[in-house]
Amino acid sequence: MPSTDEFTGWVGLDAKSVDGNLVKTTFQPKIFTDDDIDIKITHCGMCASDLHTLRSGWGPTTYPVVVGHEIIGIVTRKGKNVNQFEIGDRVGVGAQCESCLKDDCYECTHDNEPYCTERVFTYNSSFANGDVSYGGYALEGRYPASFAFKIPDALPSEIAAPMMCGGITVYSPLKRNGAGPGKTVGIVGIGGLGHFGLLFAKALGSDKVYAISRSKAKEADVLAMGAEGIIATKEPGWAKNWKRKFDLIVSTANNADMPLGDYLDILKPGGRFVQVGLPEEPIPQLKFGPLVMLNASLLGSLLGSRSEITEMLELSAAKGVKSWVDTYPMEEVNKVLGLMDDGKAKYRFVLSN
Ligand code: NDP
Ligand code: ZN
Repeated sequence: MPSTDEFTGWVGLDAKSVDGNLVKTTFQPKIFTDDDIDIKITHCGMCASDLHTLRSGWGPTTYPVVVGHEIIGIVTRKGKNVNQFEIGDRVGVGAQCESCLKDDCYECTHDNEPYCTERVFTYNSSFANGDVSYGGYALEGRYPASFAFKIPDALPSEIAAPMMCGGITVYSPLKRNGAGPGKTVGIVGIGGLGHFGLLFAKALGSDKVYAISRSKAKEADVLAMGAEGIIATKEPGWAKNWKRKFDLIVSTANNADMPLGDYLDILKPGGRFVQVGLPEEPIPQLKFGPLVMLNASLLGSLLGSRSEITEMLELSAAKGVKSWVDTYPMEEVNKVLGLMDDGKAKYRFVLSN
């Protein structure tokens, strides 16, 4: 039973909403429980997942939908079990807003909440009681406090917003797969997630970090982000030049039409390739050769744990990691959806109220 409260947001009513047809209207948030907070949303980053979901690209979306899962807001109401926040606190909410958190859940008790079978995503998902989750292209939001995070004072809201999904989705696999001193790391796809890949691989102390992009168009930007260089996969013979160079590659590629075999070929023996990008189409057939010949691992990764989110925010505050953002009034969201779909983000659009 959703509550009878009404929040206002930019609502997608069908798959055509992705073409800039979100409607500013009201929606009914989940019922308010003792474990929840309400927030006044000040900022929301725009993730490619918002586009996939609006257009039903990953399978049928349940409309009406309010997307947006890189949310920063101010706590305006809290349930009586919520002790970690005060009214007026600035918090962030990412792409996951609930998991079971039970003592007998292996995933929840091992810093692996994204893989809990009872996880709830921040939009287009439902809570245990059937209430639908609604995201951050809105003026207000209601979420379980256990998946909201205090934002360090040193991080401005528009810088912190895209870290809540784009940042953590690359921070987690970088951290879990050993990015750091002595390692050479490659990041495939320099978009929202990819630019965080470069920033965090550097912040974690990796020796060398390279952007693996389709062309060299983003070269000046990736150098400014701290990368050693850019590898253009449109240039013939690129993979031969980079054979056995990488300990770890994190791929944010958002299209299945990618040279996966070549990416694997540039791993060192024992190297790891982690895919986080979620194209709508299946990847083309893959020969096992590179995996077998290099004792390589092909992995996937979803978001990051709650402790990793806290750690990422603290590291960003301490090291001055700055998201590259382009901020627009949320009222202009329909225009910005088109810009994002055209690949114009440098490197994350953030909406502000
Ligand atoms: P962006 O659109 O900002 O960036 C995607 C990048 O992919 C582009 O900038 C481009 O980089 C690269 N790319 C596009 N087409 C191709 C291609 N044919 N071959 C290789 N690379 C390509 O998207 P986001 O960073 O916001 O999201 C990336 C993906 O990650 C999406 O699929 C999103 O849904 C998914 N995602 C996954 C999460 C998870 O938990 N696993 C969480 C959040 C998002 P370049 O121009 O440099 O080649
Ligand atoms: Zn996202």
